Amino acid sequence: MSRQTAGKTLKSKINSIRLRQNLVLGVTFSPYRDASQIYYKIKKIITIKMIQRRKSRKVKVGKLYIGGDSPITVQSMTTTDTVNAKATVKQIHGLEDVGCEIIRVSAPAMEAAKALKEIKENINIPLVADIHFDYRIALEAVKYVDKLRINPGNIGNPDKVQQVVKACKDYGIPMRIGVNLGSLEKDLFDKHGYSPEAMVESAMRHLKILEELDFYDTVVSLKASDVPRMVKAYRLFAEKTDYPLHLGVTEAGSKIPGTVKSAMGMGMLLFEGIGDTIRISLSEEPREEVKVGKQILRALGLRNEGVQVTSCPTCARTNVDVIKLVEQLEEATEKIKKPIHVAVMGCAVNGPGESRKADIGIVGAPGNHLLYKEGKIVKRINDNEIMEVLLKEIDEMNDGG
Ligand code: SF4
Repeated sequence: MSRQTAGKTLKSKINSIRLRQNLVLGVTFSPYRDASQIYYKIKKIITIKMIQRRKSRKVKVGKLYIGGDSPITVQSMTTTDTVNAKATVKQIHGLEDVGCEIIRVSAPAMEAAKALKEIKENINIPLVADIHFDYRIALEAVKYVDKLRINPGNIGNPDKVQQVVKACKDYGIPMRIGVNLGSLEKDLFDKHGYSPEAMVESAMRHLKILEELDFYDTVVSLKASDVPRMVKAYRLFAEKTDYPLHLGVTEAGSKIPGTVKSAMGMGMLLFEGIGDTIRISLSEEPREEVKVGKQILRALGLRNEGVQVTSCPTCARTNVDVIKLVEQLEEATEKIKKPIHVAVMGCAVNGPGESRKADIGIVGAPGNHLLYKEGKIVKRINDNEIMEVLLKEIDEMNDGG
C-alpha cells in the first residue's frame, strides 16, 4: 500500500468511527520503513467525547440568534445610568472590544426607556432592555431594543401582559424570562422552599402566560447564587422544554470566587450540552465578565476566537519573566478576534512541547530565548525583543486573514 493510500484508509476509518460514536479522535502514528516506502500505522487512538448540544429552538436577537446550532454567545450588562446614553454607549463600546456579543441595560423608569433609542443607534451589538413590573416602560423600550428581559407574571393584569406581548410580536423581538432563586413567588417558596423545583415551576408559570398568547420566542434563565441549585434547575428545565437557555450564576461575587463559581456551574452544564448564551455576574468592571465568559467557552472548545495564551506557572528553572509577559500580551491583544494560539514558557522542560502545539511560542533559554513558529524554531531573541517580536508575529497572523 502506498503512503497516500494508507493515509486515505486511515482517514476513512477515523471518519467512520467519528460518525458512529460521535467522538473526537486524537491519533498518533508511528512511521515504519519497508524497502523504499514509509508506512504509518496507528499507534494509539485517543477518544474524547464531543459536546453534544441540547436541541433548542432558535430565537432571533437583532442580527444574532440564540439557540439551535448558533454559537453560544457571551453577554454582559452595563453599570452606567441608562439615562446617560453617552456614558452607556461608551461602556458598551469597551465591552464590544473585548468580545461582548449581546448587551443588556436596565430600564427602571420611563426616562431610561427613552434613552434606549440613542443607545441602540450608537452600538453594534444587540441591545436587551431589563424591565420589571411596569408594562408602560416595556411598551416604550420595545420600540428600540432587540429583546426584552421581563417576567410576565410580575407585570400585573392580563390586559397589560397582552399589550406587551403584542408589542413584541409587532416589533419581532423575543423575551427572556429570568427566574432568580432570590426572588421566587411566595406561593412557590411556601410549596418548595428555595429549590430548583420552585425555580422550574416559576419559569413554567411565566411561559404558560406567554404560550396562551401564542408567543414562543422566549429565552429562559434560572439563576441561583449557588452552583448546585443552579445546575439542577437548568437540568430539570432542559428536560422539560426546548426553549433556549441563558446561563448564569447570579450574584456570583467578586472576581476570583465569581469566576470559579461561574466556571463550575456553566462548565458542567455546557459540557452536558445545556446552554445557548451566557452571562457572568461579577462584582467587577463588566469587561472582566466578558473576558471570563470567553475563557469558559474557549476552555470547553465551544468558541475559539481571540488570542489564547498557554503559559507555565514558572519555577526556579525559568529563564524569562513569563508572568509579566503574559500580562502584557493579554492586554495588548484583547481586541483581536482571529484565533491565534501563543505559548509563553519559562524553560526547555515543557516549553518546546507547548510551543510546537501553538501558532507561535517563546521558550526561555539561558542567554537567548527560542522563538517557535508553526512548530519550528525560527529565531533566537533576547529579553528586550520578546514583546516586540511576539506582537509583530501576532499582527502578521491577524492581518493574514
Ligand atoms: S516550563 Fe520550565 S520554568 Fe515553566 S514551570 Fe515548567 S519547568 Fe518551570
